[in-house]
Amino acid sequence: MPIPSLFTPITVPDADTWTHYLETPKEYPTDKPLFVDCDSGRSYSLNDVKRLALEFGKGLSHVLNWKKGHVMGLFTPNNIDVPVVNFAVHWAGGVASPANPTYTPEELANQLQDSGAKALITQKPFLEVARKAAALAGLPVDRILLLGDGRDETGVHRHWTDITARGASVQPQKAAIDPKKDLAYLVYSSGTTGLPKGVMLTHYNLVAQAMQMRRDERGLSYDVDSQLGVLPFFHIYGLMVVLGTSVSTGAKCVVMSKFDIEKACRLIQDHRLTFMYVPPPIVLALGKHPVVSKYDLSSLRWINSAAAPLSRELAVAVWDRLKVGVKQGYGLSETSPAVMVQLSEEWWKFQGSVGRLFPGMEAKIVDEDGKELGRNEAGELLLKGPNVFSGYWNKPELNKETFTEDGWYRTGDIFYCCPQGQFYITDRKKELIKYKGFQVPPAELESKLHGREDIADVCVIGVWDKVQHTEIPRAYVVLKPGVAETEARAKDIIEWLNAKVAPPKKLRGGVRFIKEVPKSQAGKILRRVLKEQAKKEDEAE
Ligand code: AMP
Repeated sequence: MPIPSLFTPITVPDADTWTHYLETPKEYPTDKPLFVDCDSGRSYSLNDVKRLALEFGKGLSHVLNWKKGHVMGLFTPNNIDVPVVNFAVHWAGGVASPANPTYTPEELANQLQDSGAKALITQKPFLEVARKAAALAGLPVDRILLLGDGRDETGVHRHWTDITARGASVQPQKAAIDPKKDLAYLVYSSGTTGLPKGVMLTHYNLVAQAMQMRRDERGLSYDVDSQLGVLPFFHIYGLMVVLGTSVSTGAKCVVMSKFDIEKACRLIQDHRLTFMYVPPPIVLALGKHPVVSKYDLSSLRWINSAAAPLSRELAVAVWDRLKVGVKQGYGLSETSPAVMVQLSEEWWKFQGSVGRLFPGMEAKIVDEDGKELGRNEAGELLLKGPNVFSGYWNKPELNKETFTEDGWYRTGDIFYCCPQGQFYITDRKKELIKYKGFQVPPAELESKLHGREDIADVCVIGVWDKVQHTEIPRAYVVLKPGVAETEARAKDIIEWLNAKVAPPKKLRGGVRFIKEVPKSQAGKILRRVLKEQAKKEDEAE
């Protein structure tokens, strides 16, 4: 029997994101500052977001001839203009595809090309990378737009506000959306194996997630009046959970473009912020960093941690220091993203759990043969629910493997569920490595390393860094015959790869030489064997 959610079921309205988020009545004053830039103090109320998004949406249709299904790449750190751009793209029937602004030109080009992006919006400091990526992907240079402070003096790259100004005077209609079919976001994830691929999230998925997160009698109620917008808006966690919560509840969101512990503490103190969604490394900083003691963080009521494993010791360290509970949650890009969350009192009662299943979801935990397991037995987590994605973009074969015949999504994560309905994540079956919550697909690093003349075979795995409290990528390398296994060679491989990838993918776990990559008879890499080996090596060091 599948494990049901303990919450009462939800009804998902037949609405697109624009209608659901911006046109349903709100219980808060929609003219008060909602998104605030932490440096300049520039702010938007919900009314501003709606007005500007409407003008930019019209401008996109009018100036860029935007059509339904057109993909807009976003390549920008957090900025208060990001929610406006996303809503505008949805208004015009488009699909937003955010990318990590630390990507190299090649990494960005892969996403632009795969998604078939019709335009890219970025900020001035990222323009050079954006231009190189556009050239590689065949995107005309004048389809790169700017947001934020800087403008392009050459006139090639229009600022989004110029398009907005044109949009104000024209009257195209909002695109007609079929919420269950039409995509709102194409976010990139490596899934259980291979290179990053587009995760198709429909309007229905996102509206369902918004309903699942609503504060009401289900006990998901939070004292939400203000939050720190530090999670990346280029990841679905920041997009849906942070931005979505603020639009739904009216919680003021003080937006940081880059995390810095001292600055974060100052902002919490000065704005009297009450909550924050974070990945575990920020919990680590709040629990352990000396600078935290200099600030008055007494306004904080709770913290929600997700995206990577959080040890109970870290949650307890924050409690001991700040008397703030750290509730854990679990989710994936493929599930829009939230799947499980601890309720307020549960973080203490069920330490180490990632909480209970969101409303409207069902779970199954199965063994290697797909046989359902009982309570307290660990196996792969399978999911069903209205927030589960509809498949990977242009990957019909992969989609057959990703879903069971009867429609369960295979997460690739290992879980058990206790008799009280709390879920615990114990391991990952899939290849994915997560550095501080950022995805690092081993296959991507391996394919680059295979390009070296001196490497015969290679396997990249994640190893645990106790100090930083995160996984870090390590390469196990088989050198070609006659090539010496020296420290200098290892250093050269690390430096060579690090120059080609975004910072989270750097080989922080180093290079180890081996004679052979362990493989099954079918030729599948046995990563588990190397993970065990890495554990022993690290214990011995
Ligand atoms: P992403 O698609 O980037 O959100 O990554 C999803 C993956 O992050 C999941 O499949 C998990 O492996 C991992 N993850 C998310 N939340 C947690 C958590 N609370 N604890 C451990 N791993 C997590």
